Amino acid sequence: ASGKPAPAGDDEAQVGTLRITHPDRVIDPTTGATKLDLVRYYARVGPLMMEHLAQRPVSVVRTPGGVQGVRVFQRHFDTGDLPGLRALDPALYEGHPPLFEVASAEGLAQAAQMSVVELHTWNARRDRIDRPDRMVFDLDPGEDVAWQQVLEGAELVRVLLQELGLPAFLKTSGGKGLHVVTPIKRLYDWDTVRAFSQAVVQHLARTLPQRFVAQAGPRNRVGRIFVDWLRNSFGATTVSAWSVRARPGLGISVPLRWNELHGLESSAHWHLGNIDARLDEGNAPWRGYAKATVSLTPAMRTLKDGR
Ligand code: ATP
Ligand code: MN
Ligand code: MN
Repeated sequence: ASGKPAPAGDDEAQVGTLRITHPDRVIDPTTGATKLDLVRYYARVGPLMMEHLAQRPVSVVRTPGGVQGVRVFQRHFDTGDLPGLRALDPALYEGHPPLFEVASAEGLAQAAQMSVVELHTWNARRDRIDRPDRMVFDLDPGEDVAWQQVLEGAELVRVLLQELGLPAFLKTSGGKGLHVVTPIKRLYDWDTVRAFSQAVVQHLARTLPQRFVAQAGPRNRVGRIFVDWLRNSFGATTVSAWSVRARPGLGISVPLRWNELHGLESSAHWHLGNIDARLDEGNAPWRGYAKATVSLTPAMRTLKDGR
């Protein structure tokens, strides 16, 4: 290659050196957002989002016919010769096609060019895939749960984690609920972390059964919030901070300060149409995340003693 991009054709556009096919195709009829809007967003947010993606196996949701059409969820992706996406060692996930990672910020726009809308990550990094480095508490409200109750639920999860001496970082999911993330030292295997996260949620549900449920299934969460601890299973993924959601309105998962919680209008408060105003904040609301990383052992003891 000469290093000089070929000129874009009629139904093509150029973002940096990347050629975008069907740039004017509307991906979300409810907002009129186009594929080019999506690619440009991912090109802009790349450096911020890489902090959340780096070294993590990633799954993607592709919607070739727009977000109201078919959703393809993929853990494996034929990355071809795209330099920004990289297949990982097949030994990381035996019996499956190789996982992949976003290797550089450029990979995000390349993925969006291939109709990737959502990016979800594992709770472990590839250099120690057997040791998760975070727990995710995924607040899934039942259909009839008011938004105010979701906000209170997040606050209550935070209080319990605080009582256990655990850090808690908040983000919108860009969908219906909220995500609370606890960074942990890579000392425990998947089963240990998952069992502990389940015990935390069971404690919550026993203490406040009118608000919380620890059991999956839509019937269990009528009027209540299922705090989904299953996100902490081996091979499970959670939508990454800064990912767009492949849903009408194109909500975005955004890292927040706890004092912003009660100002949220919904989990899709930030979306492709208004996110530019948020990019200056970047990851600042999660400042101190790496330093906050804790051992789980004291929290395990505290939770047990309280039973
Ligand atoms: P909300 O706030 O609306 O609950 P969410 O991101 O927490 O948003 P979902 O979009 O329902 O919840 O996704 C649940 C999880 O299941 C995601 O974290 C995703 O990684 C995973 N997931 C989604 N689709 C599939 C699939 N087809 N196969 C395997 N895992 C999936
Ligand atoms: Mn959820
Ligand atoms: Mn869930």
